[in-house]
Amino acid sequence: MSAGDRFEPVIGLEVHAELLTASKIFCGCSASFGAPPNQHTCPVCLGMPGVLPVLNRRVVEFAIRAGLAIRCAIAPRSRWARKNYFYPDLAKGYQISQYELPICVGGHLDIVVDGVAKRVRLTRIHMEEDTGKNIHDAHGSESLVDFNRCGVPLLEIVSEPDLASPAEAGAYLRTLRTLVRYLEICDGNMEEGSFRCDANVSVRARGTTALGVKVEVKNMNSFRAVEKAIAYEIARHARVLEEGGTIVQETRLWDADREETRPMRSKESAHDYRYFPDPDLPPLVVSEALVAEVRRAMPELPDARRTRFVAALKLPEYDAEVLTSRRDLADYFEAVVAAHPNAKAVSNWVMGDVLRLLKERKLDDALTITDWPVAAAHLGELIALIDEGAISGKIAKTVFEEMGTSGGTPRAIVAARGLTQVSDEGPIVAAIDQVLAAHPDKVAEFRAGKDKLLGFFVGQVMKATAGKANPPLVNRLLTEKLRGE
Ligand code: ADP
Ligand code: MG
Ligand code: ZN
Repeated sequence: MSAGDRFEPVIGLEVHAELLTASKIFCGCSASFGAPPNQHTCPVCLGMPGVLPVLNRRVVEFAIRAGLAIRCAIAPRSRWARKNYFYPDLAKGYQISQYELPICVGGHLDIVVDGVAKRVRLTRIHMEEDTGKNIHDAHGSESLVDFNRCGVPLLEIVSEPDLASPAEAGAYLRTLRTLVRYLEICDGNMEEGSFRCDANVSVRARGTTALGVKVEVKNMNSFRAVEKAIAYEIARHARVLEEGGTIVQETRLWDADREETRPMRSKESAHDYRYFPDPDLPPLVVSEALVAEVRRAMPELPDARRTRFVAALKLPEYDAEVLTSRRDLADYFEAVVAAHPNAKAVSNWVMGDVLRLLKERKLDDALTITDWPVAAAHLGELIALIDEGAISGKIAKTVFEEMGTSGGTPRAIVAARGLTQVSDEGPIVAAIDQVLAAHPDKVAEFRAGKDKLLGFFVGQVMKATAGKANPPLVNRLLTEKLRGE
């Protein structure tokens, strides 16, 4: 029996999502990313003595939005707490967070791994302020602090230890990221650190229920890194226990270059932080009216949208899954369907040609695509041209490419380049006569019962008409001719 069979992993994730508010959580400074160091600062976020925080209402609305989407209970009354510790990027010496009374409690997220659905329970969501950033120079001789990020609002989203494999952890994170992007509260960018994940990992003997000693792993900046770091820890725990050792509760750092974790610090416990209610901020009261207001403004969520695409538009599950993986993609798809209501045809074009174009133009990782390479109305028109029999599917591919580069409408491109499908019988009959005359042997075989040859003849006629002949018409006329009608 290998260690992998003897032990089962237990994983709980803590996600920090930086919120897309214009200003910081307790002052009016800009919360945007990428400014020169220390440009977005003021006495409040620099932690000067005597200043007072003023809560940004938008942060509360965003937290409620997340809470409703995850089916948490929204606390009518929650509290701000000071989490005290020393670090150069935290000028006040404490971080304003929420502790015993967070704004959202409970809830769950449904994930799918290898086709199997699983419900992951959430513990809580709370609001807090981000810290600044220490920047160490390349020579290791100087360290600088950039306070731009100090006071940028965060949601900390904490799961129960319900995840049982690196793949489940990855699926949970992806589901959560899709959700926060749908809600337009976080850009979900793991590389820039606006969507960060600390992974808590332990193992226990298979079949037992008591939790083992956990470690917390930080510093992963991609989904792959999270999965690899967790897998690394699971293997390490199993090995240590197998050899009769014990796991030390600690915080470890993922080293992406060496693909290993190493100890960062022994884990502090809550009491080390001396949490206490922040005397500068009153308890947070969330009225039912505010919750109702946020609920009214909620977009349709990915799960509901997927279900609707399957039920109302008769799309296969797979299509619905891909199309709802981004809100802007689902919006685009629906805009094309509004222009031409052939959902499955639209889905094929969007999942194939449109996604390929996005990838080629490196747009597939943008937070929201507003400038689509091909306008939704134009794609609808293109598919309508196919369905009307005005152009063949093959010609449509050529037209699509040109739409992507010139931005022209399909009708204009088809007219300008003389691509209109030939639906007059005259030229088609002429082409058929030519093809049949060139292949008397195949004609004889067909007449002797080899029906499969029809496809060959259709292909030849299409070739002879440069792809412009109307395929159903070619089919009918060919059949008539071959049967000698
Ligand atoms: P801490 O006080 O160390 O932050 P918490 O109880 O707040 O610990 O839990 C933090 C995260 O760790 C949660 O996501 C929780 O589900 C997870 N967790 C708690 N205990 C374990 C364990 N034994 N193994 C794996 N994950 C755990
Ligand atoms: Mg914690
Ligand atoms: Zn400020």
